[in-house]
Amino acid sequence: MSRAVTSGTLLKAVLRARDWHIYRVFEREYVRAASSIGEDLYAPSPRTLRRWQNGESEVPHGYHMSVLEAMLPGYTAEELFTPFDLLAGDPVPAPTPDRLQDGVCILCALTSCADQMCARLHAGSVWTWCPRCKGRGCRHDDDCIAGRREVYDYTAEDSDSEMRVAA
Ligand SMILES: [Zn+2]
Ligand SMILES: [Zn+2]
Repeated sequence: MSRAVTSGTLLKAVLRARDWHIYRVFEREYVRAASSIGEDLYAPSPRTLRRWQNGESEVPHGYHMSVLEAMLPGYTAEELFTPFDLLAGDPVPAPTPDRLQDGVCILCALTSCADQMCARLHAGSVWTWCPRCKGRGCRHDDDCIAGRREVYDYTAEDSDSEMRVAA
């Protein structure tokens, strides 16, 4: 891991994208996730969280890993502790939302769609956390799907301006 090009771990990027890097928010979500998997744990200290985010600590013990995976479904704990360069401005990878939202296909807007084309396009889609709602979900915004936005495959040069327009 090279410190010079790395501003932290993917965990840091994901927590920031969701506004969960604020310690009291992190603590609340951590305890909630812990109880959801039957663990009764106190959240790690602010110092430990900072070390996790900055990639300065060993990968934590198994039970912390399990809680982080319950807290952030769609990521493995190993992924969360890989370096991620926030300074590069790349979209923070978010888990792909379900194609059917309330039973409606997000590609064709048909109820209970079983179209193979929709399934194939959806399987190849790439998502980031919605910068407006930070993953909570926007009302009345068709581009925000369960708190996420699709990242379209623009050329590198255009991606910044297109992302801003989309936001
Ligand atoms: Zn469809
Ligand atoms: Zn949103």
